[in-house]
Formats: sequence, structure tokens, C-alpha cells
Amino acid sequence: MFTAMIMGLISCGGKAADAGKDTGNTTENEAQAGADAPVKADADSLIGFVAAQVGFGPRVPGSKSHEDCRRYLTERLKFYSVDTVITQTAPVTTWDGSALTAYNIMGRINPEASNRILLVAHYDTRPWADEDPRPENRQTPIDGANDGASGVAVLLETARCLKATPLKDFGVDLLLVDLEDSGRSGGDDEDTWCLGTQKWVDAMPYSPTDRPLYGVLLDMVGGKDAVFHREYISQTYAKPVVDKVWALANASGFADRFPNSIGGSVIDDHLYINRAGIPCIDIIESANPHTGSFNPTWHTTSDNLASIDRETLRTVTEVVLNLLYREAAQCSATH
Ligand SMILES: [Zn+2]
Repeated sequence: MFTAMIMGLISCGGKAADAGKDTGNTTENEAQAGADAPVKADADSLIGFVAAQVGFGPRVPGSKSHEDCRRYLTERLKFYSVDTVITQTAPVTTWDGSALTAYNIMGRINPEASNRILLVAHYDTRPWADEDPRPENRQTPIDGANDGASGVAVLLETARCLKATPLKDFGVDLLLVDLEDSGRSGGDDEDTWCLGTQKWVDAMPYSPTDRPLYGVLLDMVGGKDAVFHREYISQTYAKPVVDKVWALANASGFADRFPNSIGGSVIDDHLYINRAGIPCIDIIESANPHTGSFNPTWHTTSDNLASIDRETLRTVTEVVLNLLYREAAQCSATH
């Protein structure tokens, strides 16, 4: 029953007949047909977006670096002709009692289109390198080149490409969420993480009839030799979307980066978006029972620009672009 509901939601225009397209062996053919977006991601551009964010300093909520980065992100979205840029603010309290404001920035491309996809990344960075191998570093804020800036870079590069070659009659919402990464490590309270997204789902700019077909979260998508398994929560809530994206990655020539096996379960922004009723997957270098855990720079002072792999960034962005142009072409073909 739950699966059937998701199937309806991820089809253009919500027509029941379309739902079957996401099952069985047509998926691979559709992926093949849509694997060539008319525009390519640029690795230099992607690295530039990461460097710009890191250049502000750690984007710790409440800091000037965070405020400067916020201004930069809004300015970039407007520069790339995103139609509407909304900043949602909400008061939050972190697990250690800090009262802060969450600023979620959302850029909407073709907001009137009847079909859309939601892309999500967090732009805040962890205030403490609490996984650093050296104890004296564990109170130091991290650069968050991978954990934060990489996912944002994919969204900005997507906006840049969509300005160069716009989608027709298809919407893309770019959501840059705040306060993902100030959670309590080692505790069992998952709700201390993803505070910005928890507020965003309470005030989503959607009616029940114009919600996105689905969401794709990009988190830690710039690590050296990163491999993206099918994240467990994504697989549980939004398997048809995982199937679609992994088939498309395979058809795009990236099977080695997107192995068709299930990875670990990650508490991340997609969890709250799924609970709010929008199927959402997480493309993340994830905890994995076969290969260990996250990238070794995770929550350490080594999560810096030098640890970023331009090929990883380019690969992930190509998958996102191929996905968007394919969905737009399919939706226009069914109307
Ligand atoms: Zn993190």
C-alpha cells in the first residue's frame, strides 16, 4: 500500500497509467534513452563553488562566515536566473541549549510547472571536529568541504547548467538547508540533527497537488574515490527512485561509483522529507557494511579543500543533470 502510493507520486502528472513505467525492465531502457543531458557539468566550476564556500571559513550557525555564505548562496541562485529565491527562518534550539535561527534557502526554477523535482543539500558545517584522530582538534570547527560544501556545489552547478540550457515546462526546486550538522554525536536522539529540514517540512511551499515528484539529497559527494551505495533509508521509503537513479548512473557509465548494493542507514535530511510525504533519496558516501564507514575525513579537520575529488563531484552532477533532462523529456512526452 505504501509502495503503491509512492509509485503514483513519482510519475508525471500523477496519472495512474504512468506508474507502471517505473517497474520492471523498462527502467533500464528509459535510463539509456535519457543518459545524455544536453549540457555537461564542469569540474572547474564545481571546485570553484566548494572553494568559495570554504573561503568564508567554517559555516557554523550563528557565525559571520555562515551569514556571508548565506548571502553568497542567495546571490548565486539569483545570478543563475532562478525564478524565486525564498529564505525561510525559524527559531531552533540545539541539543546543547544554544538558541539559534535556522535559515533555509530555496531557489525555485519554473515554479508554475506541474511537474518538479526537489534537490537538497545542507550548507552549514559541523561546529566541532569531534571525530578527529587528535583529541586537541575535537573542539575545532571543520571546513566542511565535503560535508556541506560538496552537495551545495552540485546544486549550484545544476543551476548554472539549467541557465545555459533550460528545461521546458519542468520545475526544479533547489533547497539549501541549515543546521543539519549540529547534532549530538553518540546520543540516541536522531532529532538533534537536521534541524533546518525539520522546520522546513512544517512550512513547505507546496499544496498537496503540487508537490515534487520526489527529492534527491546530495551529501558528502566530493570525497576521493567515493562510492555511493543504495542508502538504506532511501531504499526503505523511496525504492522506485533509488532504482531509477542507480539505473541511470549505470547507463551513464558510472556503475563503479554507484554499485547496486545496499549501504548503511544514515540519519540525514531525507528522513524528514520522506516522513513529510515526499519520497526522497540520499546520494551519500555512506556507512557501509562492506567497506566500513564514511569518508575518513568525516567530522575531522581534514575535511578541507585538499581532500576534494573533482571527478567525484563531476560524476554525481552528471547523474543529476541526466536525471533532470530525462524526467523533463518524459513528462513532456506524456502530456
Ligand atoms: Zn556531518
